Amino acid sequence: MARQPLAGGDDDQGRGRSLHVEPVLVGAGVESRAGAGDISAERSGQSHQHGQDRDLLLAAITWLGLGVALVDAFLLPLPWLLVQGALVLAYLAGGVPAGLVALQQLFRKGRLDIDMLMVVAALAAASVGAALEGAVLLALFSLSGALEHRAMGRARRAVEALMALRPDTALRLRTDGRQEEVAVAALLVGDRLVLRPGARVPVDGQLLEGAGAVDESTITGEAMPVSKAAGDALHEATVNLHGVLVMQVTRDLASSTVARMIALVTEAQAMKAPSERFSEWFGARYTVAVLVGSVLVLAVLLAMGWPFQDAMYRAATVLVAASPCAVVISVPAAILSALAAAARGGVLFKGGAALEMLAEVRAYAFDKTGTLTTGRAEVSELVVLEGDEAGFVALLAGIEAASEHHIAAAVLRAAEARGVVPVAVQEVQAWPSEGITGTDAAGALWAGNMRMAARMGADLTHPALTDLQAGAQTIVYLGRGPLVLGAVAVADTSRATAAAGVAALRNAGVRQIAMMTGDRREVALRIAAELGMRPEEVFAGLMPADKVRLVDDLAKQGRVAFVGDGVNDAGALARADVGIAMGAAGSEVALQAADVALLSDDMARLALAHRLARRTARVIKQNLGFALGAMLVLVVGGLFFNLPLPLAVIGHEGGTLLVVLNGLRLLRDPIRVG
Ligand code: ADP
Ligand code: MG
Repeated sequence: MARQPLAGGDDDQGRGRSLHVEPVLVGAGVESRAGAGDISAERSGQSHQHGQDRDLLLAAITWLGLGVALVDAFLLPLPWLLVQGALVLAYLAGGVPAGLVALQQLFRKGRLDIDMLMVVAALAAASVGAALEGAVLLALFSLSGALEHRAMGRARRAVEALMALRPDTALRLRTDGRQEEVAVAALLVGDRLVLRPGARVPVDGQLLEGAGAVDESTITGEAMPVSKAAGDALHEATVNLHGVLVMQVTRDLASSTVARMIALVTEAQAMKAPSERFSEWFGARYTVAVLVGSVLVLAVLLAMGWPFQDAMYRAATVLVAASPCAVVISVPAAILSALAAAARGGVLFKGGAALEMLAEVRAYAFDKTGTLTTGRAEVSELVVLEGDEAGFVALLAGIEAASEHHIAAAVLRAAEARGVVPVAVQEVQAWPSEGITGTDAAGALWAGNMRMAARMGADLTHPALTDLQAGAQTIVYLGRGPLVLGAVAVADTSRATAAAGVAALRNAGVRQIAMMTGDRREVALRIAAELGMRPEEVFAGLMPADKVRLVDDLAKQGRVAFVGDGVNDAGALARADVGIAMGAAGSEVALQAADVALLSDDMARLALAHRLARRTARVIKQNLGFALGAMLVLVVGGLFFNLPLPLAVIGHEGGTLLVVLNGLRLLRDPIRVG
């Protein structure tokens, strides 16, 4: 397998009980997708399945052995040899695999596994003639191990399922117009592909010809089909519903949407939640303490003159009662389930730390353009001060052609609609939150906002320009040095779901919501009004560093989340306690800087993710409280109240299973709406 084993770590640790459950949903690794085939995901899925089957088989054998011994003890006496054979079988099937794994851990990594405690306890029981009790322990242990494993597997399959949705081959259009079937891994950027109705989009691309609707639910969790026209982006693993489409490949397999999602999740391995680290630390330290403590109990009881048999029995009971299985599994069970539920709804957390942090967030700051607004802006007005309109548009489109900003896309669409060919512009440089500069045949050229104009010493008091400024739209000025050639107004609309999303966050108890934009205040206020945000919540005309400073200010009053999409948001995304990037549409830089990627455009998901994070925090508290409490009761019972070994076993295993099931409830939390 490529990297880490999948969560649960069946392959190198034998059973889910080894408890190294990373918040990693997909472990097959990104590199496998770039490689020869897509088998590694399936392979890891299969071996995982094998691990589960093997666990269940071993548990069944253990139970069979135990069953025979129980019949002999309580119903009718069976031949001695049969009963002894059955018990040995139960010990072998229930204890040997776990014991081997535990020994491996001990010698390879110098770590004492919890499995070891169980095996030692069973052997201790057997050594004092309580072989039946030992067998009960092993049987319950192996069963709950198998069940946990199975349950955790469910959580992990959410993203794995996505990988299975990728087609193996694509229909490529050759230059002579014929179609050929090629392996998806062999596709190159620039290739043109034909998508038949019902076909899955094999890699990220752009629609060239045809119009239709695409089911993007695999990526965004959104059930409603999204209609696509020429020029629109198509995401890998989405389904072309009807119509024949021709698309151009914009990203190869290794850098397409699914690979990026996997990278987001796998790179997060190190970002463990604090509570996760606690439960791991606890497990590691405490296991040693339990073993030492049980030996101490044995020694003390012997010193007090107890018969060896009784002292050993008591020590074994304490060993079982004090084993921290439930504590150690309680946190990953909750976090993994929540991460999977979120991923299914198009909200990707880079690990448990972000999830746990989001639960504490009390303030949300939003970037405007591309986050609260669609980013699909239109050029709505045009003022030409020098030369003719076509020449002006050709110049503006020429310089914007190199920009990835939403404004640039609007300008290019406007040029195309007018049938204007952009002029060639070189030495292009982007100035975040200001604009862009470059050089054409006639010399230096700039396009941008008032700040850019001021920097160039340009005068914006021409009546046509002040008229434009009176509106509530984004204005892009074009100029050469201090000379203004003209300007365009660009109108952007708020996202359909943004108002509901903001309202839902307020309902969820978020005290502070802010808009932080590099755009003009007039535009920001108009969008804010559409979203039910108050003017004092709007911060406009910001440079990237201003956003960072404002987030810093908010952070003084509590945890802050920043939601953004652009290059200019990267600083604020990184500074915020939780950075949330608009996933599918956002820039690569923003995705890198963020802790969470919102793959869906649906802002309501944000509030759902927020609620999920809070519920997860609650479940973790419940689980830890319950697990620690149950352990305390069992230990006290084992030490002072003659708690029988079978009861300790049932309490211990039952508690472990309960916290896992409690964690799994999060899996059903509906992030998906509609
Ligand atoms: P937001 O913070 O709302 O996402 P940005 O910081 O990306 O907005 O942009 C702020 C302003 O900077 C824009 O409203 C625009 O006036 C100017 N600007 C940024 N990039 C460009 C560009 N490529 N062309 C013209 N103007 C730009
Ligand atoms: Mg933006």
